Amino acid sequence: MAARPIAVRFAPSPTGRLHMGNARPAVLNWLFARRHGGTLLLRHDDTDAERSRDEYIDAIEADLRWLGLAWDRRERQSGRLARYAEVLETLKASGHAYSAYETAEELSLKRKAQLNAGRPPLYDRAALRLTPAERAALEAKGRTPHWRLRLDHTDVAWADVIHGDMTIQSSTLSDPVLVREDGTPLYVFTSVVDDIDFAISHVIRGDEHLMNTVPQIQLFRVLGAPPPTFAHFALLVGKEGEKLSKRLGALSLADLHADGIEAMAIASYLARLGSSDPIEPRSDLQEVAAKFDLTHFGRAPAHFDPDDLRAHNAKVVHQLPYAAARDRIETLAVPNPEAFWLAVRGNLSRVADAAEWARVVTAPALSAPVEDATLVAKAAALLPLEPWNDATWSAWTGAVAGATGTRGRALFHPLRVALTGRDTGPEMKALLPLIGRERVLARLSRGT
Ligand code: GLU
Repeated sequence: MAARPIAVRFAPSPTGRLHMGNARPAVLNWLFARRHGGTLLLRHDDTDAERSRDEYIDAIEADLRWLGLAWDRRERQSGRLARYAEVLETLKASGHAYSAYETAEELSLKRKAQLNAGRPPLYDRAALRLTPAERAALEAKGRTPHWRLRLDHTDVAWADVIHGDMTIQSSTLSDPVLVREDGTPLYVFTSVVDDIDFAISHVIRGDEHLMNTVPQIQLFRVLGAPPPTFAHFALLVGKEGEKLSKRLGALSLADLHADGIEAMAIASYLARLGSSDPIEPRSDLQEVAAKFDLTHFGRAPAHFDPDDLRAHNAKVVHQLPYAAARDRIETLAVPNPEAFWLAVRGNLSRVADAAEWARVVTAPALSAPVEDATLVAKAAALLPLEPWNDATWSAWTGAVAGATGTRGRALFHPLRVALTGRDTGPEMKALLPLIGRERVLARLSRGT
């Protein structure tokens, strides 16, 4: 059989914004598509009219763009209702879908009774035993049916890319509802229809969906389509293994963005979290994709620690190319923004902290203690004329050393403090030309 073209999908439910937990399948599907030359479908699972919001669709797309994840095609399930209705008809006709009339309260009472009796709360298929007269009576009372898939009670097996060989007896599951009494088609069903129609080759999603795979594989089969390959990655948990709370995984990308976390930091972090590959700072997602391997992901929950993310973010900032910081750096009005960025990035945890160094570079005056007034005065007298470059610092300090006999820390430290007001910071040879002769002279002349 010819290999199927690689096609994956990211299928968010637009009931909230993206956060660390639900952005993860977006990152993993994008990387998989790029790694294998496949396509990515962005599918909004928005059939739940009560909970889905257009504003979340827009926000999710904005977050994906910010992360640098482009999609090849976009669909909304709410635009495909006629298609789901059509497929439901074929399932009715083939006897795979059956109508049931229980109300939510009736179902919940049944579940409670089963649990009290120590039995698993499975749907008892009472609807299959209704006589035509009983159905007619229910409909006469105004009841509209919902539709369930009649599971074939066999073992369902698949080779999961992450979980390995899986076999689940489908009689351990309830017949899933395909369409609610109000006509709303539900996820287990719509997802399969779309995966068939858009020729999805790999379904990569969190392992909270492992059990949905059973009815879904049966649906693929009864609809005459080969099931895709499944890969279920383990969920994110907190540092101590706790469930992700609002504070952790539910931290929205927008919050993290506002907090100075780079898109590249989030994407490159999520790309490796839970896998045996190291989390590396990268400035290009294509590079991350080149080494992406789903089989390196494990079944154990992935631990998310916001401090790790912040530390990783600092590493990303240290090597962030100017192009990725330009918009933010240009607003700082420093003389040579690119040279400034390259000089200071290694000292930052967040791009926004560059503002502090911009002040150091451009401030007309600095309040800094004068450590060695004699040395500083001598250095001012020996200050070369402009133009300056990154050889100026060593030529100048060499001359000061020659004239004063001062060397090492005793030479460099008073000059750094006089010029920047700080003990430590970016390399002086890079800062000096940015500060410029006029300001350098003013700063060196304060003590005299
Ligand atoms: N809308 C579902 C979710 O967000 C999609 C699951 C799937 O990928 O099949 O969990």
